[in-house]
Amino acid sequence: MNKTNILLSATTLFLSSTVALAQTTLIKNVHGYTLEENNLRQFSAIQFTNDKVDKLFSTNENYPENTDWKIIDGNGATLLPGLIDAHGHVLSYGQSLMNADLVNTTSEAEAVKRTVEYANKNKSLTWITGRGWNQVQWDNKTYPSAKALDKYFPDTPVWLSRIDGHAGWANSKAMAIAGINKNTKAPSGGEIIRDKQNQPTGIFVDNAMALIEKNIAELTVTQQKKILLKAMNSLASLGLTSVHDAGIDTKNLQAFIQLSTENKMPIRINAMLYLPTKNWQQTLTKGSFHSDDNMLNFNSVKIQADGALGSRGAAMIKDYSDHAGHKGLLLHDEKSLKHYINTAMKAGFQVNTHAIGDSANKIVLDVYQDSIKATDTKALRHRVEHAQILRLQDIPRFSELGVIASMQATHATSDKNMAVDRVGETRILGAYAWRKLLNANAIIAAGSDFPVESANPFFGLHASITRQDKHNAPENGWFGEEKMTRIEALKSFTLDAAYSGHQEKLIGSLSPGKKADFVLLQDDFFKIKETEIWKNKVLQTWVNGVQVYRNILK
Ligand SMILES: [Zn+2]
Repeated sequence: MNKTNILLSATTLFLSSTVALAQTTLIKNVHGYTLEENNLRQFSAIQFTNDKVDKLFSTNENYPENTDWKIIDGNGATLLPGLIDAHGHVLSYGQSLMNADLVNTTSEAEAVKRTVEYANKNKSLTWITGRGWNQVQWDNKTYPSAKALDKYFPDTPVWLSRIDGHAGWANSKAMAIAGINKNTKAPSGGEIIRDKQNQPTGIFVDNAMALIEKNIAELTVTQQKKILLKAMNSLASLGLTSVHDAGIDTKNLQAFIQLSTENKMPIRINAMLYLPTKNWQQTLTKGSFHSDDNMLNFNSVKIQADGALGSRGAAMIKDYSDHAGHKGLLLHDEKSLKHYINTAMKAGFQVNTHAIGDSANKIVLDVYQDSIKATDTKALRHRVEHAQILRLQDIPRFSELGVIASMQATHATSDKNMAVDRVGETRILGAYAWRKLLNANAIIAAGSDFPVESANPFFGLHASITRQDKHNAPENGWFGEEKMTRIEALKSFTLDAAYSGHQEKLIGSLSPGKKADFVLLQDDFFKIKETEIWKNKVLQTWVNGVQVYRNILK
């Protein structure tokens, strides 16, 4: 990427937009809420000029009459600051909208059936790809096999990712193309599942997934831009005005930069560069990138310390409670992990490291402790992505080190049945431990990890507040003492998520001078019954003072 050219064209766009006349808009007749620190402020109308908020009107305050303002009647809808997802995967989400969707399948047979249906509708594909199966939700709870696919796909390669993206299911044709056989060794940090005769069954875990994936043709930048746009428009329809993209390669970054310079971004993106990826050192040397309109920011990296809990890839200090002798996987040895973290910190980048198991979390916090001191970068607000299973003694270290816990509430409600099996009754007390973290003064940035979970932020708000699934189970919430209040949950999806992207002065709440990013909702988030929070509907989404989504039924 040529940064000088990019900066130049971004400046040109900015100059031409300031020449345009200022347009002031007033949206009246709303139940508006925003946060000022930890306090709720209510308002009945919002006035903004171009991309910035001018004023919030209190309930009994009069609006000026006879102006040339554009006046919009909110018809009593609820207005909240735009919601921010601090951890999602935009390209995979876009692909999930286009690939075979295996989410919520109840058996291997159903997953195969859906893949066949998808293939019948998309006959020109050279590879059949899909995503979203989860054997934990299936009757037999066992991994699927290549054989089940081979019957329907003898000559077409098939590759289906698990819901968490930490394992993939290949058919025999895909394995043949990849040259996989009995003698193929798994790379470090990866696992090939084998049968009793030592034959690969078709399941590839973590780093072993690349053995298959490297044979699938890479998307071009133009193809990526199309998928990213589809994804971002879908995210806007859910009420998200900003997303932190948790680990992209340099090509994906280039696609975002092109969309931003073409002024096509419907929502804000904070991009994290995945480490290690092709040309990562050179990309970091070039420094951070911020578009003038702040629609695209790149000042962080994503590193993966371990795998996921469902596939027992999360690195634990002691054995899994349901698998003796097994402690999960660290995806990099400690020396490499230190190297990536140090290099990024030295280059002035915020470091966001995925850690799920208690061992991975401890190691990441240890490395952060040394590296933050050595590089003097506490102010960069480094993060742990997921921070899912923590030793109780590691919880206070987040606020001590100024490290943000970037957590996904719906992981708790989706994992609840499996998590206790995996880690047992004692370790679970430090798992998905929002209340313990908040009590220890940690900042929690909320997200969903879409497409692992639904991108709908109201599902996350509901899970944060109730610790229940959509069937209101379990009663009083799963480890209900960890629940957040509505204000805390909203803060984690707005101001604190903005803080975790160094943007709390720009977005995350509504006040004069901040960006006009907000959503209009059907139901009042603060009055709706707890059990109904996830059902709220987005009527309109506004980003930078521009309406980017409108529910046409309303
Ligand atoms: Zn993720």
